[in-house]
Amino acid sequence: MIKIGINENIQKIREDIENTCIRIGRKNDVKIVAVTKNVTVDRIIEAINCGIKDIGENRVQELMSKIDLIKPKPKFHLIGHLQTNKVKYIFDKVELIQSLDRIELANEIEKRAKSRNIIVNTLIEVNISNEDSKFGVKEDELLNFIEELQRFDHIQINGLMTIGSNTKDTKKVRSDFRRMYLLREKIMSEKYDRVNLDILSMGMTNDYLLAIEEGSNMVRIGTGIFGKRNN
Ligand SMILES: *Cc1c(COP(=O)(O)O)cnc(C)c1O
Repeated sequence: MIKIGINENIQKIREDIENTCIRIGRKNDVKIVAVTKNVTVDRIIEAINCGIKDIGENRVQELMSKIDLIKPKPKFHLIGHLQTNKVKYIFDKVELIQSLDRIELANEIEKRAKSRNIIVNTLIEVNISNEDSKFGVKEDELLNFIEELQRFDHIQINGLMTIGSNTKDTKKVRSDFRRMYLLREKIMSEKYDRVNLDILSMGMTNDYLLAIEEGSNMVRIGTGIFGKRNN
């Protein structure tokens, strides 16, 4: 079995992010979310011991099976598609739900959050590449969606999230990321209540530097830290 150097991988990613920020002349405010689907608790703890503070899981069940075993406790992010009937398990346990993409889901989050008198932090997932296979709000529906979310007093919108196209065409990926940045600027200028788009979550192992060049400040990296998943 090949031992993947989690520590070396994280150091290298940090260096690459820092160098990219220097090269394009922006402040390095990029947060790394280590994506831990199919990663064992031991290896997650290894990453946390290397300074990782944010952990992303895309399945509720997998998150629940690990959440109490991971120490010291990181911040957990739900990054995958969230079924309405699973909201109750995680709404008060995660730092950020990154996949808010429909009103039905917002309704359920609002109901749960209200009953506990808490505010749940979310990112709106945008299907910027407009692929049928992807979840997320379409670009041309985003403003309407945000207007509709205005009635939910217990949901805070902290930013936008997207998954780049699965293509080698970097021009296409870059142009999608650029439109995400512009969308965020546009919405911020509208000054809605409980909408504060500080976070732009885009970029994974294959495209995170490109995403940072286009303004991402949160990258979600799995394979690049833990090695190839056997699934
Ligand atoms: C799996 C996953 C990632 C990480 O993907 P890698 O290519 O392994 O870095 C990021 N975001 C989401 C939503 C994912 O499901």
